[in-house]
Amino acid sequence: MSAALTAHGIDHVVLERGRVANVWRTERWDSFRLLSPNWMTRLPGFAYDGSDPGGFMTGDEMVMFFEEYASLIAAPVVEYTTVRSVRRRADVFEVMTDRGTWLAEAVVVATGESMQPRVPRMALNVDRDVAQITPTTYKRPDQMPDGGVLVVGASSSGVQLASELQASGRDVLLAVGGHVRMPRRYRGDDIMTWLDRAGVFDDLASGVRNLRAAQRQPSMQLVGSAPPHDLDLNTLQAQGVRLAGRLVATDGRHLAFADDLRDTVGESDAKLGAVFDRIDPVADAMHAPHDEIPAPIEVPATPTHLDMRAENIRSIMWTTGFRRSYPWLQVPVLDARGNIRQTEGVTEVPGIYTIGLKFQRARNSHFIDGVGNDALILARYIATRHRVRVAA
Ligand SMILES: Cc1cc2nc3c(=O)[nH]c(=O)nc-3n(C[C@H](O)[C@H](O)[C@H](O)COP(=O)(O)OP(=O)(O)OC[C@H]3O[C@@H](n4cnc5c(N)ncnc54)[C@H](O)[C@@H]3O)c2cc1C
Repeated sequence: MSAALTAHGIDHVVLERGRVANVWRTERWDSFRLLSPNWMTRLPGFAYDGSDPGGFMTGDEMVMFFEEYASLIAAPVVEYTTVRSVRRRADVFEVMTDRGTWLAEAVVVATGESMQPRVPRMALNVDRDVAQITPTTYKRPDQMPDGGVLVVGASSSGVQLASELQASGRDVLLAVGGHVRMPRRYRGDDIMTWLDRAGVFDDLASGVRNLRAAQRQPSMQLVGSAPPHDLDLNTLQAQGVRLAGRLVATDGRHLAFADDLRDTVGESDAKLGAVFDRIDPVADAMHAPHDEIPAPIEVPATPTHLDMRAENIRSIMWTTGFRRSYPWLQVPVLDARGNIRQTEGVTEVPGIYTIGLKFQRARNSHFIDGVGNDALILARYIATRHRVRVAA
């Protein structure tokens, strides 16, 4: 957003509560790698230019990437400055922080799609002797207590952490909710490359039949690793991970699961089939081979009730997705769920904008590869709507 504002000569500051690339420094586990290949790590005027375009960056490499970019575009980042409130004051916004107050004609909220782990309320019931952790505070297996682990949620974080914890010698039980199965490779290439070629990432929010549902879709069940491999319910079972259906309740010690794994797997396969239907015509036109078709998921018998003590489950990893929270945004732009009501980043309050939200403008609006385009479009809009001062 800063690069795009500068391109339009718009005077601005970037307020950051931590340092540049804060969440990549503080909220990623040690073995983290991007799901998108290196060639997709690109921002306006800056892109990965190493020798491994098909590889996947680590968290530390992402920090370096964003540091370099911030320096290249001379982004006016004010670090260690937390926004405490944004309020309307006459014809400007008063932005109060823990290090002073700014007045701005326009505010772009860029606090991310994945602001906070979304942990279900039932977590409050769990006995205190069972450790509870989320992917934003998890770093490595030795941080977890000995004994079994219940991992709740089988999207990208869930399958990766279930696999890592099982490999560390713990018995892992994975509660599988709705997910989007995605093979790493398909018809001779990386799946992300096919999705890009087929134009899937460019799907516009304005053309999606049920936008709310599309925004609630979990992340793709993928892992970025070298050599590339699948991490799905088959590979996890082969590793020894036990599967259960969706976790529906706990009274502290007992767990209740839905008997829904077969249905969940069926829904996931149907979504995958729809993805292949979009890729295949493009792949056929390129005479791509048909040799990498994923095997059907083996659905085991699953438990509906378990006693955590009897099973020696000593910790729960909540990989149940993310939510957004804007207690500091004191302008009327939030919907009943606490999300910002916006269309392509423009809210109902003139001067309040967003960037980086899921399906904000297109399917890739919250991906590194998609945000740059959105930022350029939004900056152009801001330049036409506000009496912006031209940067010296
Ligand atoms: C586990 C995980 C894996 C991902 N993998 C990929 C991937 O493979 N490829 C991909 O393209 N995308 C991936 N993403 C999405 C990726 O995070 C986003 O593309 C990108 O980080 C979004 O950048 P952002 O600047 O919008 O938000 P963020 O990176 O979340 O940055 C928001 C910033 O706002 C700051 N902030 C928050 N509140 C305040 C406040 N009150 N005052 C001041 N500062 C504040 C935070 O410190 C943070 O630095 C992944 C996300 C997650 C969670």
